[in-house]
Amino acid sequence: MSACYNIQNRLLGDGHFWIVAGPCSVESAEQMERIAQSVARAGGQVLRGGAFKPRTSPHDFQGLGVSGLALLKEAAEKYGLLTVSEVMGSEEIPVVSDFVDILQVGSRNMQNFSLLKQLGKSRKPVLLKRGFSATYHEWLMAAEYILEGGNPEVILCERGIRTFEPSLRNTLDLAAVPYLRTLTHLPIIVDPSHATGLRTLVPALSQAVVAVKADGLMIEIHPDPDSSLSDAAQTLSLEAFEALIPVLKKLGSVLGVKV
Ligand code: PEP
Ligand code: MN
Repeated sequence: MSACYNIQNRLLGDGHFWIVAGPCSVESAEQMERIAQSVARAGGQVLRGGAFKPRTSPHDFQGLGVSGLALLKEAAEKYGLLTVSEVMGSEEIPVVSDFVDILQVGSRNMQNFSLLKQLGKSRKPVLLKRGFSATYHEWLMAAEYILEGGNPEVILCERGIRTFEPSLRNTLDLAAVPYLRTLTHLPIIVDPSHATGLRTLVPALSQAVVAVKADGLMIEIHPDPDSSLSDAAQTLSLEAFEALIPVLKKLGSVLGVKV
């Protein structure tokens, strides 16, 4: 069992399962309103949305920056949801902290040690995504930088690793969940969207995430997935997302996981 965190009166871990959902990138007020309403309706806890985006190409959409964070916060507050958004560099910590409840470290930054050290001084919980080539030891040591700095609330997020299999964006390592239980008390959530890159695979793998008794799921959703400005192929529609949640709840009830 993992530790139980109380983040703004929302419990995570030790049997309390979180649904974290939202768009890859915050795009507009209308988009965020529809998504936040859907997450709340599904019983989710956290609204995600990137505003400072780590894109592979500098020519791709880079996110709305501070105005995106404001849209994320506004939509989440209206529906009583917590928020998470990525911080790419130490200089972004103060501004992102002004708007969100949880700071996300992306896969590409898992071993950005100066960023991790600065996050150790933050009072906000940190969602630490696994580097796409990181071993369990490297991932846990990255978490240790934040914990060692004095910040006790780190959430691990498995998001797929790079393997020899080219058909999918990444390979989802679900063994990470039960294996890391033997090594750490930190809550572990799983992101099947970035792990597969294909929206059709997200429902089945989300069920598997409940089955391995992870502490939560992070899923990318959008009212019009094909028009998403980033990661369209892996983004679920609001309808597909809302249809999935009752299945996860039913599965959770059999396994003693409170979805
Ligand atoms: C994200 O969750 O927005 C993201 C960029 O994911 P990752 O860092 O896992 O690629
Ligand atoms: Mn994405």
